[in-house]
Amino acid sequence: MEQFKTDAMFDLGRYVDREHVLLASYAMHSCDSRGRLHDEEGHSYRGPFARDRDRILHSSAFRRLSGKMQVFTGEMGVYHRTRLTHTFEVASVARTIARSLRLNEDLTEALALMHDIGHPPYGHCGEDVLSECMESVGGFSHNSFALVIVQELEQRYLPFPGLNLSREVLAGQDVRAHKAEAAVGRSPMLEVQLVDAADSIAYDAHDVDDALQMGLLSIDELTDLAVIRRAQERAHARHGTLPAESMRQLLVHELIDLQVSDLVRVASEMLLEIDGQTTGEASDSGLRLKHSEELAGERAELEAFLFETVYRHARLIPVRESAAKRLRTLFEVLVRQPDRLPLRFRQRTVRRPVHQVVGEYLAGMTDDFCDSQYHQAVRNQSGPLADW
Ligand code: MG
Repeated sequence: MEQFKTDAMFDLGRYVDREHVLLASYAMHSCDSRGRLHDEEGHSYRGPFARDRDRILHSSAFRRLSGKMQVFTGEMGVYHRTRLTHTFEVASVARTIARSLRLNEDLTEALALMHDIGHPPYGHCGEDVLSECMESVGGFSHNSFALVIVQELEQRYLPFPGLNLSREVLAGQDVRAHKAEAAVGRSPMLEVQLVDAADSIAYDAHDVDDALQMGLLSIDELTDLAVIRRAQERAHARHGTLPAESMRQLLVHELIDLQVSDLVRVASEMLLEIDGQTTGEASDSGLRLKHSEELAGERAELEAFLFETVYRHARLIPVRESAAKRLRTLFEVLVRQPDRLPLRFRQRTVRRPVHQVVGEYLAGMTDDFCDSQYHQAVRNQSGPLADW
């Protein structure tokens, strides 16, 4: 019926009408959602994905992102990004792209806010340690652990565990968890793809900013990179000659803007070809959002440079090594003495291998909380550790 209405007949206060008018045919529309595992009544003015976004935002795992390092630790100052500020930057970039491409902004935001919720303490080094310690139970993946958090560990409702998110949001995170297997055939929902793109746009830009601010890099070292030169030229064209400090800040804006603009331009052209298709047909077509070939090459060059120069910087090595040692020790202590796990984790060991449960308990911690439990475990030889 709705397609026979004229625009004047839609009530833009209703999310279903708003989406019908504003979203492209291939966007995920709230009215097409496959619902939740546990049935719930609809909300009068918030669509299902807006509710998912709010549930994630209000979860305790989301708040703990403020205490988890992204690349750099608190020992290196307070300027740099944490997982929480990174997450907001990703959500902001992703929403901009979603709106430009007429995709579902609420779904995009829910996916963006959830995308890093499963990260363990101590950044990538924490993930490496847990993967090693949990080898006997299939290793550790922050993307899969995000699903354990939102489906089992968060306790918001009396009748069931977890946040009871929409199936589309869970499926989107599941795609992240099984990215390698999903590389062929049907493509993930466009909203899932763009959150992935927004994630890497945000971290490429802010890792440059953080590394420059901390003195791990100088702007001169970066100017061999084509994408940096491009961003600098844009900043000069807009603002003339600039002192180094202003250039650092403008560089980040320009890096984000040029990457987003490139993605939106290329994606808009690709999406023209599937105009009129449904979400399912768009997935069947295998369409993958991407940057122009030129920018994709420049981004790969920047990422390789950051990997060698920043992520492996000598100042980060001792910090990582000592964090890895604390996490590994704590893991070993708890595997030997699982009775020291907090009650709800002890209960989980009835049906799950101890290595898995110990990993889950540790992965939910913030950096500081992990430090405090490490000292507690080492100082006292018995007694349970605290729940987060
Ligand atoms: Mg991320």
